[in-house]
Amino acid sequence: MARMLIVEDEEKIARFIELELAHEGYEVGKVGDGRSGVDAALSGDYDLILLDVLLPELNGMEVLRRIRRESDVPVIMLTARDAVMDKVAGLDAGADDYITKPFAIEELLARIRVALKRKETIREVAAPSEPDHHVLCIKGVSLDVERHEVRVKDDIVELTNREFEVLKCLMENRNVVMSRERLASIACGYDFIGETNVIDVYIRHLRSKIDDRYGIKLITTVRGVGYVIRED
Ligand code: CA
Repeated sequence: MARMLIVEDEEKIARFIELELAHEGYEVGKVGDGRSGVDAALSGDYDLILLDVLLPELNGMEVLRRIRRESDVPVIMLTARDAVMDKVAGLDAGADDYITKPFAIEELLARIRVALKRKETIREVAAPSEPDHHVLCIKGVSLDVERHEVRVKDDIVELTNREFEVLKCLMENRNVVMSRERLASIACGYDFIGETNVIDVYIRHLRSKIDDRYGIKLITTVRGVGYVIRED
């Protein structure tokens, strides 16, 4: 059974999550400060990390950065309500998902299942038994599905998993306008309930990393509908 690490200084919340996860059959560890969080997360004993943003010793963002230097273990951030900047910063720093406190435990469990499933999918795709490369190319941007790599000219563009999934979805469906809801459900692998404005955040990041940096007009906004990549 998958092992979870809870990094949360509020003992009541940590205990609540621990009991619920244990009830679901997960093995659960918990620590109450950022420094212990980094150490435990990098021990390799965990399949998924639930990471609070406001923590003593090291804050959650710094914990996430340190984890990402060495590990791609799935991380779900626990953020305060309306802390949009935390969400964006967390996704930027490589979080797989976030959930806003207070949350319904069913929602957390659903997100955990998605994050674990995505990890499995990435592992399958990364397996070396896949000889032929599936590469999508539009307007000088190439996306290698198996290598999980995006290139413009000779540069590798560093994208987070979610940014990659959104770009892949748009490139696979070139000339088709994709709604935020559709992008969210495809990129995130489940029915995204509300908060599709995260898709706008991913699009903004993609534009700053690709369109702005390389002077390409790649992603077009279709007002009131969604986004499209059009071939010339
Ligand atoms: Ca806290």
